[in-house]
Amino acid sequence: MTLVDTPATTTGGPALTQERRLVTAIPGPRSQELMNRKAAAVAAGVGHTLPISVVAAGGGVVVDADGNSLIDLGSGIAVTGVGNSAPRVVEAVSAQLGAFTHTCFTVSPYEGYVAVAEKLNELTPGDHEKRSALFNSGAEAVENAIKIARHYTKKQAVVAFDHAYHGRTNLTMGLTAKNIPYKNGFGPFAPEVYRAPLSYPFRDGGLDGREAAARAITMIEKQIGAENLAAIIIEPIQGEGGFIVPAAGFLPALVEWATANGVVFIADEVQTGFARTGAWFASEHEGIVPDVIVTAKGIAGGLPLSAVTGRAEIMDSAMAGGLGGTYAGSPIACAAALATIETYEQDGLVERAKEIGSVLIGRLNALRTADPRIGDVRGRGAMVAIELVDPATGAPDAALTNKVAKFAHEQGVILLTCGTYGNVIRFLPPLTISDELLVEGLGVVAEGLKQA
Ligand SMILES: *Cc1c(COP(=O)(O)O)cnc(C)c1O
Repeated sequence: MTLVDTPATTTGGPALTQERRLVTAIPGPRSQELMNRKAAAVAAGVGHTLPISVVAAGGGVVVDADGNSLIDLGSGIAVTGVGNSAPRVVEAVSAQLGAFTHTCFTVSPYEGYVAVAEKLNELTPGDHEKRSALFNSGAEAVENAIKIARHYTKKQAVVAFDHAYHGRTNLTMGLTAKNIPYKNGFGPFAPEVYRAPLSYPFRDGGLDGREAAARAITMIEKQIGAENLAAIIIEPIQGEGGFIVPAAGFLPALVEWATANGVVFIADEVQTGFARTGAWFASEHEGIVPDVIVTAKGIAGGLPLSAVTGRAEIMDSAMAGGLGGTYAGSPIACAAALATIETYEQDGLVERAKEIGSVLIGRLNALRTADPRIGDVRGRGAMVAIELVDPATGAPDAALTNKVAKFAHEQGVILLTCGTYGNVIRFLPPLTISDELLVEGLGVVAEGLKQA
């Protein structure tokens, strides 16, 4: 019997050869073929960052149908913290698939959902009594957090911040700050959503955290009134808005004001949660204890799952039947989440995120010293970004940002941009990436900056 040579591209996971390998241009012919089918079959509003056809992924690489192996500096968008097809996740999901696939938790419950809720209640900041509810997407969880806060406070107004991103459904579009591409032409948006100024140390003229919080609180008190305000929602580090780390003291001052004024403080940790920032949750860096915390992306190794976790009295205020959804907390996603959380714990991935952060911050700061177009290097753990500017004026340079990203893509590096002004390159590698691949990927970005 002859052994059939199984192409490396049929199996993913950490066993995949960890290398950047370009055997065709990006896109190669098979990827291009898929792009042509996509253009004819998929709605144009569903965009893509790289024109490739993925067949396998794992560790720190993504392999396409042409046999190219790309360095993954995006993890989807901060989803596969434990890596693609992480062994514990594959095993747990396979076992669950063989047992049962769906009963609807609100019809006939199962243990996985309850176990995920217990784990979230234990891991999230604060040792008060908590409850959790599970959903499918980040946006759906944000919507539910707002529903719950309104029901509990019997108030309606909600404050979100400049540069915020909370999702693409109607309420979350309204909470999101950036018009193009998220909101333009998609209105009308839900009422009683207000926007307050953020702390953005690189661009707000040296306001410290307390001063920036006082500015936001004054706006809230004068324009809305605490007696009308159900909730403040904020990302502890803004994701799509540009990886903006607020000045120290900003978040604690907001929490203090919210607590004193009967306003529910909601931390949207959809992007920052689950080891990403070198802590289980980014709120921990500022020592804050949110009333409600929303999680999703990194929670289940790539399976669709999201959660709202909060103070028991807040979470329990909604009537039975008021929260839920057909697929919410699917048994398969719950099995994946338990295996994912175990992987973060057993493989020391919170620590690993810190190490990745030192490599990123160290190398990017060295680049900045030699290149004044890098205006700012910021972030925490494996969530780091550079903001590219015109060195003479400090004006955002989106054109340069796009050039560098395009260069990286052509050279086999998956690199994401973000920012209200489109001038931020963000680094969100899987926590399973090797230092070698990470450094090689950064080298490609440095080369892209040089050539641009
Ligand atoms: C991605 C994201 C969302 C929306 O999550 P979806 O799963 O895409 O609906 C909400 N908030 C933040 C901070 C995010 O990064």
